[in-house]
Amino acid sequence: MKYVILAKYGEMALKGLNRFRFENQLVKTIRERIGTGFGIRHMQSTIYIEPRNENADIDFAFEKVKTIFGIASICKAVVCEKNFDDVCAKSLEYFADILPYKTTFKVFAKRADKRFPMTSPEIGRELGHVLLEKFPNLSVNCDSPQYEVHVDIRDTNAYIYGEKLNGAGGLPVGTGGKALLLLSGGIDSPVAGFLTAKRGVEISALYFETPPYTSERAKLKVEQLVEKLENYCGKIEFFAENITRVSEDLKNKCPSELFTVLLRRQMMKIANEYAEKLGCMAIITGESLGQVASQTLEAINCTNAVAKFPVLRPLIGFDKREIIAISEKIGTFEISSQPYEDCCTVFTPKHPSLRPNIAECEKAELLLAEL
Ligand code: ATP
Ligand code: MG
Repeated sequence: MKYVILAKYGEMALKGLNRFRFENQLVKTIRERIGTGFGIRHMQSTIYIEPRNENADIDFAFEKVKTIFGIASICKAVVCEKNFDDVCAKSLEYFADILPYKTTFKVFAKRADKRFPMTSPEIGRELGHVLLEKFPNLSVNCDSPQYEVHVDIRDTNAYIYGEKLNGAGGLPVGTGGKALLLLSGGIDSPVAGFLTAKRGVEISALYFETPPYTSERAKLKVEQLVEKLENYCGKIEFFAENITRVSEDLKNKCPSELFTVLLRRQMMKIANEYAEKLGCMAIITGESLGQVASQTLEAINCTNAVAKFPVLRPLIGFDKREIIAISEKIGTFEISSQPYEDCCTVFTPKHPSLRPNIAECEKAELLLAEL
């Protein structure tokens, strides 16, 4: 049997004139991720992904397409000739391993090509009969069937499929501009990057390293996170910036209880420069309100005061448990849980200020200029 992947797009179909840009971006992304072994075309809110020959691995492509933002649902369908006999024959073959183990079902027929000689209700009824005869264990349940059999009569062919899986949702990456993710080796920032990319934003990532206080292993961990995120976000430009000297200066010259917030301000200033250079329109962090001392509203205000771009904090209202659930789903949790320290654990004061204010930060920073 010949298979095709049907990927249906979700909310992007609603975007009026933008729709064409979104569709083109989506097709381009799919092509980049699955290679040249497949033909890709789109029609009526569905992208058809067809193997060009027997060497093209459709299951591999299916797994890849499942992670592409902008796709609402995805299924592997059987390609039929556009006549009812072929639809019946292929249905019997395709569902032979599935329907004997089901109790109730319903046929959902859709006829995009109105020249097809049977109406949708007729197709549903007739195919239902054929399946009932073959699988006596089944009965029809129109309200809440245990299993759905779908038949789509489209332009050149008919397609049959069973369960549809949810796609990754969101909007195609690249349709929403670019932003700079401040990516540490922790659990939160990769999830923040994932959620922003899900809204169509292309991601560049910046990691602040503090050698020799942080090891090469810590950086490798962040590089692994980037690689994992790329499964969803597409290519991520990655930068590492050494902040050892600035961290030592802060530790030696400034009040220790302000260390964390002052370091965050330094990071933000460096991030401004990167964002400007890279053409990013926003900076993303993994901050979540109240999670740690540096994430009180007062501290966030102090960091925000030096930001030249909007700072996106997609996790601001999330509990740790919710963040972990996403990181497990996208495969970053295991990497983030590796023990290699990030810069702050080495320098972090025992009693960080919970209520810093901008004036005291600015005053402390004057000390940095002194010899
Ligand atoms: P994460 O789990 O993302 O590390 P966290 O709970 O450890 O977050 P903080 O250490 O307060 O929180 O960091 C807040 C945010 O600042 C991080 O989510 C990240 O966006 C950014 N950040 C912190 N440390 C670094 C770093 N070494 N390099 C790049 N960004 C960093
Ligand atoms: Mg951290």
